[in-house]
Amino acid sequence: MLRIERCTVGYADQTVFSDLTLAAAPGETLAVVGPSGCGKSTLLYAAAGLLAPHRGTVALDGQPVAAGDRRVGLVLQQYGLFPWFSVLENVALGLRLHGVPREERVAAAYAALDAVGMQQLAPRFITTLSGGQQQRVAIARTWAMQPRLLLMDEPFSALDALTRESLQDLLCSLLQGRRMVSILVTHSIDEAVLIGSRIGVMHGHPAKITWVDNPLSGRTADTARTSPEFFAAVAGLRRRFAELLHA
Ligand code: ADP
Ligand code: MG
Repeated sequence: MLRIERCTVGYADQTVFSDLTLAAAPGETLAVVGPSGCGKSTLLYAAAGLLAPHRGTVALDGQPVAAGDRRVGLVLQQYGLFPWFSVLENVALGLRLHGVPREERVAAAYAALDAVGMQQLAPRFITTLSGGQQQRVAIARTWAMQPRLLLMDEPFSALDALTRESLQDLLCSLLQGRRMVSILVTHSIDEAVLIGSRIGVMHGHPAKITWVDNPLSGRTADTARTSPEFFAAVAGLRRRFAELLHA
């Protein structure tokens, strides 16, 4: 369980959130959309323990979250991989930093690469991969750590449309039945509807998040994408979004 309670979060020159409260249970995926600069990344940094709140608490399963917390995985838009390491070494790196013995971390890295369909590329160097493949490796690296809290900051924004769809499908199937809390920040309403079990619209200064239940929750992205319910949900959310942003 993730609990953000009465948090004031920001930087020296501005408060981004004032009195933010948010709870999410294992198995939930929160998809957060909002205009650029409203505080989406700041929310993830606070949830990850990378940005300490000025007031309030962030806890995962009852324990405070701190920077470098092994229970938290973060996937960024720019994959953050090391070009001079192989795919396998990149995926095993997090485990290595946490002192997991070699045999165990190689097995975990292979399993994670298998989960993202990249096992055959394990010996390759990062520079030889496409953007979509690199993002699969970045997801595998986080997946290998088996985080309790998975945070993703616009992970597919740099990818072309078809690659993005295949990664949305992948993420959706990875998350199905997983007992972790996930937060996906995206600028795409479509993506929020395809992946989120709950959708948050972030707006205002200081920022607020208005939560909307997703009627498509539980469907896989590839079946949802072509259903009439998907288009209806996207249209409904767009209207809601416009109301909130212009309120
Ligand atoms: P988003 O991810 O929604 O685009 P951010 O969370 O990055 O928004 O930023 C929210 C606000 O905080 C913006 O006004 C931004 O300029 C400011 N901000 C972000 N990072 C920093 C930082 N390291 N120092 C000072 N201000 C920052
Ligand atoms: Mg951002």
